[in-house]
Amino acid sequence: MNYVKVNDPRIGRTDKNEVFVVASACIKHFENWRKTIRSGIANGSCCAALRMDDGSIRFGNSRGAGETAISSGVHSINHAEIHAVKSTGGQSFMPFLYVDLIPCVHCQTYLEQNLVVEHDRDELDITVFYQFDTAEEMSRVHALSEAVQIQYLSDLLGL
Ligand SMILES: [Zn+2]
Repeated sequence: MNYVKVNDPRIGRTDKNEVFVVASACIKHFENWRKTIRSGIANGSCCAALRMDDGSIRFGNSRGAGETAISSGVHSINHAEIHAVKSTGGQSFMPFLYVDLIPCVHCQTYLEQNLVVEHDRDELDITVFYQFDTAEEMSRVHALSEAVQIQYLSDLLGL
């Protein structure tokens, strides 16, 4: 498993574009929750997204909120990346995951079990891209407008 911050200069152009598509979709999805629906999603709530093999994007949030949580009644998952992986319902997805905050040790163990073992992939084939090192930085950026958050991401990626 590779954990790579989105401003890492080793990220190639194709991967940068892919990260931008998924991470900006994550920002837009949760901005709606954070500022309109207001269902427990706050600036300090970590968000995650991954792309399915069919091209669709699934989301997860540290408050367990999202379309899957609403339909299934699951509200006990308090780590965004775990929620995102569970929201796939076992369907296959591309071997990369976007998450706002660098995954905690607990989540790293979970991802090794569920992205590597369950999907029978080589550990090094899977990359977790993250944007923030600290919850404080994440909260500060989440408080900005959607357009500014997307620009912040774009700047980090060097697009
Ligand atoms: Zn975690």
